[in-house]
Amino acid sequence: MPWSLTDELNDLEARGLRRRLRTLESAQGTLVQINGREVVNFSSNDYLGLAGCAELKAAFVEGIGLHGAGSGASRLVCGGLEPHRRLEEALAAFKGTEAALAFSSGFAVALGTIPSLVGAGDVIILDKLCHASLVDAAKMSGAAIRVFPHNHLGKLEKLLASNATARRVLVVTESIFSMDGDAAALTEIVELKDRFGAWLMLDEAHAVGVLGPQGRGLAAALGLERRVELQMGTLSKALGLSGGYLAASRVVIDVLINKARSFIYSTAPPPGLAHAACEALRLIQGAEGDRRRSRLRENLALLGAAAAVQSAILPVIVGNEERAMELSARLLELGFLIPAIRYPTVARGTARLRLTLSAGHEARQIEALAVHLRGAVAELAAEQPAPPAAEPGEAV
Ligand SMILES: *Cc1c(COP(=O)(O)O)cnc(C)c1O
Repeated sequence: MPWSLTDELNDLEARGLRRRLRTLESAQGTLVQINGREVVNFSSNDYLGLAGCAELKAAFVEGIGLHGAGSGASRLVCGGLEPHRRLEEALAAFKGTEAALAFSSGFAVALGTIPSLVGAGDVIILDKLCHASLVDAAKMSGAAIRVFPHNHLGKLEKLLASNATARRVLVVTESIFSMDGDAAALTEIVELKDRFGAWLMLDEAHAVGVLGPQGRGLAAALGLERRVELQMGTLSKALGLSGGYLAASRVVIDVLINKARSFIYSTAPPPGLAHAACEALRLIQGAEGDRRRSRLRENLALLGAAAAVQSAILPVIVGNEERAMELSARLLELGFLIPAIRYPTVARGTARLRLTLSAGHEARQIEALAVHLRGAVAELAAEQPAPPAAEPGEAV
């Protein structure tokens, strides 16, 4: 039998779901070059603009000079260098935990952590909108998976009650949801999981750097760090680099060092990167971080985001997949890069533009966006009615 891969791609194309890579011809930043044109980038997760900042670039270069370009092996073989240890100490202090473990990506944190701690006979209870890495990790673990509708505390409570006799119960959620920009009902979730003796894994990917004192995330903002057993995060978003971490008790980290396959069987992150990550942590916790966070808040206010908005992610829900693509294409013509997010990343019929702001945006760029966005949405709505549909998706 031939593999009919072309048919698969054609089918995606016909449904408005085919994805293609785009290459930026400039460095990542608030202004980027695409097809020879300069456009304003409203799609990056570099919320504080650290990826291009001089201090961080210098720290990366310095780290390479001091420690070399690559780490040579996995941590347990001979790839563990002094910057890895320093980074983990800094992460544990930052998150208020006994220990932390650095991974090569946030995705690898999820895949390594969840199956190391729960398995057959255990139960994982996930928010419906959890990121793909958490969903895949839950599947890999062999534990029974239960899902509650996004932030639905009543359903979460029912699931906790009906699984109260399981050996281990792990609740998994995100502080800021990546495609919706809203926050978990964290105080209530922590109350509930404590009441039933479950553990909580909180993915702070989009909250670190942005929320809480010194950018320490949502758990810190609410004074709940000590009650969240597993604090996951990434260095790839507001910290401007790449890599992921889990912050937890010493015993959890020791179990991960012994069991997490994405940690054990993967080469240690480049030591220069770990060195730079220490600098990124220092920057976001200090006056520079505070300055950039207030710039980000000012920018959100400029775009008319309500004071209640907690994150730098502002989805513009369009509905239909092809219309979302078209709106994105029009905005690109007008000089704004805001990719459309479609099924299966979000539920079918909820395609959207995922707009993100950065501390690096200038007021005039945001004001221009507001005008053109309103215009483009109105134009598109006048041209075609929206055919809605519903099919659950998965977060990416
Ligand atoms: C981006 C992201 C991850 C993965 O982190 P990487 O470091 O990019 O692999 C995990 N969880 C959430 C919620 C994310 O948005």
